[in-house]
Amino acid sequence: MTPLQALQKYFGYSEFRHEQEAIVQHVLNKKDVLALMPTGGGKSLCYQLPAVLLDGLTIVISPLIALMKDQVDALNVNGIPAAFYNSSQTPEEQIDLATKLKNNQVKLLYLAPERLFGNEGKLVSFLKTLTVSLVAIDEAHCISHWGHDFRPEYLALAGLKTAFPGVPVIALTATADKLTKKDILEKLNLQNPAVFISSFNRANITYRVIPKKNSFNQLLDFLDDRKDDSGIIYCLSRKSTEALAADLKANGFAAEAYHAGLDHAVKARTQEAFLRDNVKIIVATIAFGMGINKSNVRYVVHMDMPKNIEGYYQETGRAGRDGLPSDAMLLYSPGDANKLKQFAMIEDNPEQSRIMLNKLNDMVHYCQLHACRRQFLLKYFDEAFPDNCGSCDFCLTEFKKFDGTLIAQKLLSAVARLKERFGGTYVVDFLRGSRSEKIRADHKELKTYGIGADISKNDWLRHIRELCAMGYLQVTEDAYPVLKLTGKSEAVLKGLAKVELVLSETTEEQRPTEALPFETSLLTELKSTRRDIALHENVPAYIILSDATLQEIATYLPQSMDELRLISGFGDVKLARYGREFLLPVKSYCVKNGLASRIGQKTRKRERQAKTSLAPVRTRVSDTRSESLRLYKSGKNINDIAAARSLSPITIESHLAYFIQTGEMEVKEMVSESKIPAIKDAVESYGAERLAPLKEILGEDYSYGEIKAVVSWMQREGTLT
Ligand code: ADP
Ligand code: ZN
Repeated sequence: MTPLQALQKYFGYSEFRHEQEAIVQHVLNKKDVLALMPTGGGKSLCYQLPAVLLDGLTIVISPLIALMKDQVDALNVNGIPAAFYNSSQTPEEQIDLATKLKNNQVKLLYLAPERLFGNEGKLVSFLKTLTVSLVAIDEAHCISHWGHDFRPEYLALAGLKTAFPGVPVIALTATADKLTKKDILEKLNLQNPAVFISSFNRANITYRVIPKKNSFNQLLDFLDDRKDDSGIIYCLSRKSTEALAADLKANGFAAEAYHAGLDHAVKARTQEAFLRDNVKIIVATIAFGMGINKSNVRYVVHMDMPKNIEGYYQETGRAGRDGLPSDAMLLYSPGDANKLKQFAMIEDNPEQSRIMLNKLNDMVHYCQLHACRRQFLLKYFDEAFPDNCGSCDFCLTEFKKFDGTLIAQKLLSAVARLKERFGGTYVVDFLRGSRSEKIRADHKELKTYGIGADISKNDWLRHIRELCAMGYLQVTEDAYPVLKLTGKSEAVLKGLAKVELVLSETTEEQRPTEALPFETSLLTELKSTRRDIALHENVPAYIILSDATLQEIATYLPQSMDELRLISGFGDVKLARYGREFLLPVKSYCVKNGLASRIGQKTRKRERQAKTSLAPVRTRVSDTRSESLRLYKSGKNINDIAAARSLSPITIESHLAYFIQTGEMEVKEMVSESKIPAIKDAVESYGAERLAPLKEILGEDYSYGEIKAVVSWMQREGTLT
């Protein structure tokens, strides 16, 4: 079985994501691998698929019991025998597990790192008597002091390569910074490892930062049209998580608090209730999340500013693992930055304090940013991205600019007159000529007092933010922040520099609705079918099928098992086990409403979608694709490009096939003319839904790349239906 066939058979997916294919191939070739992929990128598949294809056992090291259970459930539902070994099991259960392992009845075994080498190495000795074919280390950044989740137990994993010589090790993490990466490679003793770094862009997440004022009302506004969705709300302190959860409950939301100070049993119960959708909102400190694999988290809100971009990105990344549109919203107040500054100072460690403060500054910079947030985030992780992502608050807002030089001059001279000793609110009140007692009497005598009465308070505050963002003004980072001039201010005051300000921020455009027109009431029925099955199987609903899969069903209305197979997420076992149960509501819905199957639109739809609404996805992917095209046009062959880019030739071929579809490349540049008719014939007879059967029919002489190329060309010509 090829990896692609196994992907469809066991996981129900028709194509690989990111670098999955290349990673799987390396592992199958017994190479050590380090894979860096964003949260939700699809790391698990990188070792689960080889585990299915290889003889023998795959050991998976994972730090959290909750996570293990989730993964094991998900594998079992897909018909892949998996198990975990941990302290919560009874001796009987452990003996039973040992027997199964001896009889080769388990493909994946999940373990916490301390288990493996603990207990005088008993477990490791036992495992050495079995055929171990792969070791996977999840959350590999836990081995690094530089990461934010250092776990000393992970250091023992250095012994893996000696305990299991010749067995490939794959390390996976969503932490991408260079120091952590270097640490992982060194401390795990990986041998000549291939390192795969996927794009860290999370195209389905929309990023927003809004100035914090009356945060609870702002939150309620945000939640207003998200009542049925699951979400995580992060707060800085334990106390505020509890207060906020209580307030939300009082407003009718199924919310619970979660923080490290809670009783273990309470935490476990809350987490479980969240996974099972009985609790919709978790209000948490950052203690919550690492073990959360829940794929249908629709939003992540930060009520307070996080300490650094790494943490923020990881936390927001918990939204939308299923690939459906999701939101990240942060409420920003400069006061938060000052609070955090105190935490960043680490006693007797100036070096570490400096690092933390720099990270905090980057975070503040992000919050005050007047540019594409996605581009900023990706740049932070050393990744280039175009400057209009189409799905952050900046890119979604239309700005009307005007010559604001005069306004800037008024503001800057007020700051100067007030001797750079007052904060934004005071300066604005002063400019607007407030009669309040708060304005000092001697200030009321100054010439600049009241010269800005024609501009609203809010607009002034916004202009202050703009001028700060452009570097004409700065806010000190003290307990009482004040406005100060900068090196650039003088040019404005002297009339040597023009300043453009934003006239008005027209409200955000509607988010491009990339959601397909699915049947909403059918989706509700499908969810209830899923809930029944999940209850029966005693697992969270999303383990049975993801929201994305249900949405596809409610869109394409499959009428038979064969049609259902074309829905992403139905592997053979899931299809056989649950297929019929999901077909029933679809069929009766269609009869009732006089609808027919739309499965025929599936490939066409995907294509059309890629061209219109999924702009952010397109830009991300097109970067890596364009690079392949550039190299190809410069005369390199596919294998050379693959080697140069540490990608598999298969990936390069699909990059190029894309350009055949867009018309930027001729099919003949990839396939010799004599081969085209045979491929075309095969596609016409068997369809292009799946390439594997085509390859089987065409035989050795035809590569996947050539088949893909012809399919793309036929799509372009419109000869593929
Ligand atoms: P990570 O561990 O990187 O955070 P997961 O392995 O949990 O991400 O994968 C996130 C989601 O994406 C899961 O629901 C998974 O089933 C799905 N997924 C993974 N690979 C693919 C693929 N090739 N096609 C479609 N969905 C995929
Ligand atoms: Zn943007």
